[in-house]
Parts: sequence; C-alpha cells; structure tokens
Amino acid sequence: VAKNRAKLEGRGGLQFFHQHLHDELVRQHRLAESLELALDNDELSLHYQPQVSAVSGQIENLEALLRWTPPHGQAVSPQEFIPVAERSGLIHRLGDWVMQEACRQRALWRDAGVKLERIDINFSGRQMGRHDVFERLEAYLRRYGLGPREIGIELTENVLIEADARILEGLRSLHHRGFRIAIDDFGTGYSSLSYLKQFPVTSLKIDRSFVRDAPGQPEDRAIMEAAVFIGHRLGLEVVAEGVENAEQLALVREIHCDLVQGFYFYRPMPAAAIERLLLVGVVPSLGSLLS
Ligand code: C2E
Ligand code: MG
Ligand code: MG
Ligand code: MG
Repeated sequence: VAKNRAKLEGRGGLQFFHQHLHDELVRQHRLAESLELALDNDELSLHYQPQVSAVSGQIENLEALLRWTPPHGQAVSPQEFIPVAERSGLIHRLGDWVMQEACRQRALWRDAGVKLERIDINFSGRQMGRHDVFERLEAYLRRYGLGPREIGIELTENVLIEADARILEGLRSLHHRGFRIAIDDFGTGYSSLSYLKQFPVTSLKIDRSFVRDAPGQPEDRAIMEAAVFIGHRLGLEVVAEGVENAEQLALVREIHCDLVQGFYFYRPMPAAAIERLLLVGVVPSLGSLLS
C-alpha cells in the first residue's frame, strides 16, 4: 500500500481520487455492518405515508417507508442505506423484515377496525432477484391471514425493465391473484411506453419532480397530463407523488389524478400516529385543503 501511495505521489489529482474512493468504500462497508446489527437490535421501523383520494381527501392506502435510527445516532435516509444494502446483499433480510412488519401492522389495523384499503411496500431490484421473493410475500400474507388486496408493491420502471422472465412470471401471478402493483417514480426511468402494455401493473405513480415543477413549467404539466391520459386508457390508477402545496394540489386535481401523496396532506408517520389519525379521526381540516 505504501509503495502504491508513493507511486501516486506525483499525481495529486489521481491520488486524491483514489483516497476519496477508498474513504467512500470504507464508509459503505461500515454502514453495511451497522445496518446488519440494526436488524438484530430493533433499530428499524416503518413509517407510513397516506395516499388520499384526489376527489374526497379520504385516506385510501398507506405507503410503508423504512426508517433506521442507530442508537445515539441520527436517522440515516433510506436513499443512503438501501443502495448499500443492495450492494452488500443485506437487502434480502431487510426486505423480508419490511414484508413481515407491513403484514403484521396491516393485520393489527384490520383487527382494530381501521378503515384502510392496503399498505404498499417498496421492492428494490436486487430483492426481486431472489428466487423465492414472491413465495415469501405470500407466506407472510398467510401467516397474518391477509388477502392479496391488503398489501401492494411498488417497483421503479428500471426494475421492471431489467426484470427477467422468472420475475415477470412471478409478478404476473401476483397480478392475477389481485395484488396491486405500482410503477414508482414514473417518468424518470428509461421510459419506453411500450412496456406498459406488457407489464402486469395496476397503478402509475408520477414522479414528484414533475409535480414540483408543473405549476410553473408547461412541459412538466404536459408530461403529467399525458401520463394521466395513457394511465387511464390502460385502466390504471394514477397517483401524484410529492404534492407539497395548494397550487400543486389544484393542478393534480384539475388533470384528474386519482390519488395524491405528499407533505401537503401528510408526512410519513410512525404507526401510532397513523392509528390516531385513522381511528380517532384527528384529521387536520382536509375539507379546507380540498375546497
Ligand atoms: P419512494 O418509494 O419514491 O418514496 C417516496 C419518498 O418521497 C419518501 O422518501 C417520502 O418521504 C418522500 N416524500 C413523500 N411526499 C413528499 C413531498 O411532498 N415532498 C418531498 N420532498 N418528499 C416527499 P424516503 O422515505 O426518504 O424514501 C426514499 C426512497 O427510499 C423511496 O422512494 C424508496 O425508493 C426507498 N425506500 C424506502 N423504504 C424502502 C423499503 O422498505 N424498501 C425498499 N426497497 N426501498 C425503500
Ligand atoms: Mg415508493
Ligand atoms: Mg416514489
Ligand atoms: Mg423514489
């Protein structure tokens, strides 16, 4: 190592680059290690973000979002740790934990009489590569006595496009059994619309970058309108992600998105807060948001 370092001495830029890469790899390795411990030590939880009807403001579904807070530490964003877990292979255990926890919570809420269509969970690419991932999902549903309409899944376009025949077969069979399957971050992948006809999906979630810019940018609005049009013509439900203000809400309602998800209505919340919201009905004046 010392010799290699010396060799790089004269080339400041390259050495800096190598050092930087090395630091990044070490950081990722440590992150993967502590994430593995986190699984054993109960440091993970699911937060839930409501999806509301664009027409009535009623909560229909929840998206489960993974949270990790190391002890005495700051929460680490899933945008940071999910890719690390994918690279290290830990994503399989992590994904299993998410499936089980979402099913357990869905069953608890069903038994408590909470009015809710379903909980959607996110699936990453590598996770789908595991041969028995769908069987495992079905096994958790059975364990908690849930039907296929009570848990849905979200996949990005890229995951769908890279899916091999076995994964597609698994998705088709889920779809056939009544599972809801959403394309997440729609419009940001290598979008070729032709894949919409061959993939077994039930919803499009328009990426929040379009929603953010649409009120001031005719191009973003046009793309959103086209997504709603094609989605509806194909019989899909269309969800607008990342609605943060009244202007964006007015727009997504005007172009007839079916569901809305975003900080303007609700942030992702721990299960206890969701429960207060859904059971006790502590609803921040939704009527006024929609008027
Ligand atoms: P995603 O599936 O597209 O999830 C939506 C993300 O947008 C969430 O970020 C949510 O907090 C955020 N969001 C929702 N409404 C708004 C809004 O109005 N404004 C803004 N600025 N953001 C909003 P989060 O929770 O940090 O998750 C990031 C990504 O991490 C997710 O994107 C998903 O790709 C991944 N992820 C999260 N949980 C899981 C999981 O359990 N499994 C897998 N495989 N991936 C997950
Ligand atoms: Mg998602
Ligand atoms: Mg999304
Ligand atoms: Mg995303």
